[in-house]
Amino acid sequence: MPLQQTAMSQTVMSQTTTHMLPVFARADLAFERGEGPWLIATNGDRYLDFTSGVAVNALGHAHPHLVQAVQNQAAKLWHVSNLFRIAEGEQLAARLCTASGFADTAFFCNSGAEAMEACIKMARKYQAVNGKPERYRIITFEGAFHGRTLATLAAGGQEKYLEGFGPRVEGFDQVTLGDLEATKKAIGPNTAAILIEPLQGEGGVRAPPPAFFRALRQLCDDNDLMLIFDEVQTGMGRTGELFAHTRFGITPDIMALAKALGGGFPMGACLSTAKAGKGMTAGTHGSTFGGNLLAAAAGNATLDVMLAPGFFDHVQRMSLLLTQKLASVCDRYPDVIHEVRGEGLLIGVRAVVPSGDLVVALRNEKLLTVGAGENVVRMLPPLIVNEAELDDAIGRLERACIALSPDAQKRKAG
Ligand SMILES: *Cc1c(COP(=O)(O)O)cnc(C)c1O
Repeated sequence: MPLQQTAMSQTVMSQTTTHMLPVFARADLAFERGEGPWLIATNGDRYLDFTSGVAVNALGHAHPHLVQAVQNQAAKLWHVSNLFRIAEGEQLAARLCTASGFADTAFFCNSGAEAMEACIKMARKYQAVNGKPERYRIITFEGAFHGRTLATLAAGGQEKYLEGFGPRVEGFDQVTLGDLEATKKAIGPNTAAILIEPLQGEGGVRAPPPAFFRALRQLCDDNDLMLIFDEVQTGMGRTGELFAHTRFGITPDIMALAKALGGGFPMGACLSTAKAGKGMTAGTHGSTFGGNLLAAAAGNATLDVMLAPGFFDHVQRMSLLLTQKLASVCDRYPDVIHEVRGEGLLIGVRAVVPSGDLVVALRNEKLLTVGAGENVVRMLPPLIVNEAELDDAIGRLERACIALSPDAQKRKAG
């Protein structure tokens, strides 16, 4: 790239940065192009992207099928209001419902938090139209993350995110993750639903055993409560199946999707059974942008790729390879990392050193990762990653471990 152009884009960047509300602790790094699992920085450096835009770019960057689908749609029609029928959205809804094995309808929106808001409203409305409007409370779990709107923050219950934003939205009761007795005790005359992530992403890539989820299903059946799964991060292939809850052998009543749903195009969805959605009649909820033609095109194109034969076999094979290779790095650098957890390609590496230091050391090796709770570094490669790219990443991780390992440094000095 011409030097002048680089200098100019950097000037432009630093000027605009100063006018951005500084709610993100951004790295001083910007990209201008992507190719599969690679991101190319404005200075030409190539980074291996194991963030995938935080579990968004499941098919990598600039996937030809997605590019084609969005380009074709962009030339025809971008947006019409939900006052009218949108055939592409109807098609996507039908495909998602069929693939889910439980849902009858989908509501489209633009983000994970919005999808969660729709789930929360639906659960309350279900109880209200059944003549139990007093049932509005939702049981959630410690370590959860459901978004940054006022209600989803209250659902997540993280003090650090709630602080300073006024009275918290009423109606969420949080219990310890995996504690069935505490969950039973929390059910009262005002309980409407139980809300849980099949695998906590932000919370540190952790999950109770499948039996816990089956027990929640039973509790909900016994007490006429809605079971809500937040699959915003785990859904759309991230855990090696289209939806993470498949491995539990049970289904929810209501499920939130977003992140990878549009392959990078902002899109969320609330899927539900007809029974759960029975109170959501015309006028009870809405969205201006939700499920517009560009989003529907991106969603359908994402599904085209994911539902092709062999796609999830590949994800599961890559998952096995990555976790094996990571375990071997753990064995060799126990003073830097000490545990590998997760499912599919939602993998957490628990650090011994501060996880933020490991993220920075990896970035210095041009491998991009994301932090999470419990001192975990998340590895979220695009699902199309191949074995050579995994080996490349492991090489970068080893170099970062050497840089951070007191033992390795001592060996070098001695
Ligand atoms: C990211 C995330 C959300 C929030 O999604 P946004 O699109 O940022 O609003 C909600 N739930 C889970 C589990 C997530 O990982």
